[in-house]
Amino acid sequence: MLKKIAVGILLLSSSVSISLAATNTAAETASGHAKTTATNPEYYADMWYRDSAERNAIYREVYLLAEQIIKQKVAAQNLKPKQWGIVLDIDETALDNSEWNYQHDIQGKQQSWNNFATRSQSIPTPGVKKFINAIHQMGGYINFISNRPATLQAATEKDLKEQGIYFDQVLLDATNQGTSFVDKNPRFTAVINGQSPSKLPAQKILAWFGDNIQDFPGLYQKQMIKQNANGNAYNDFGVNFFILPNPMYGSWEANQFN
Ligand SMILES: [Mg+2]
Repeated sequence: MLKKIAVGILLLSSSVSISLAATNTAAETASGHAKTTATNPEYYADMWYRDSAERNAIYREVYLLAEQIIKQKVAAQNLKPKQWGIVLDIDETALDNSEWNYQHDIQGKQQSWNNFATRSQSIPTPGVKKFINAIHQMGGYINFISNRPATLQAATEKDLKEQGIYFDQVLLDATNQGTSFVDKNPRFTAVINGQSPSKLPAQKILAWFGDNIQDFPGLYQKQMIKQNANGNAYNDFGVNFFILPNPMYGSWEANQFN
């Protein structure tokens, strides 16, 4: 599912290159990541995701604010337990798989992503366990909808359980296409209506979580990137939609860089 579209664009002025190279050397010494150079286009994305306080802070911030907003919605709408729920993506939303990116992009290991996923090497993203536990305590269903292939169903549920991440159901991509571009909307609708492949009763979804714009109902990268960033197209974010940062990969890789 993490097939990459080559990005390979690193446009740095010579002076910026020098200063980044210096920073890079320091970072390598500090973290032991002396496996590559700044010419690797994935280096800084992977490093930021794995070794930045900013990444940790953003995840904590998003999950904390979302919890408060959901609490307010449950009270305002007088919702009872099991009448409502939330939908979350898995990879780089609830599970941090950046170990694979580090091994693949920086160390040059050839292990497939699916093989990595079956070996339970992923860890929870910052703040997600506390957040999910709070939602579960409030009576909301935890629905994971991911484009991991359905062949990874058992491995994915095992990994989530081992990492202490509660869930009520996990709906993967039954077509096993192995790409993040599979349309999640039919599964979103199924969860809301309580129809197959959802195994739960109909529920009101109060919030959606993802690291890809296509983790949200009705949103597609091709259309959204053309929208005014300050226009109505993004109005649901911070209200009903909550997005986490992923500079390592995503539907954005197919966009034009201009
Ligand atoms: Mg994801």
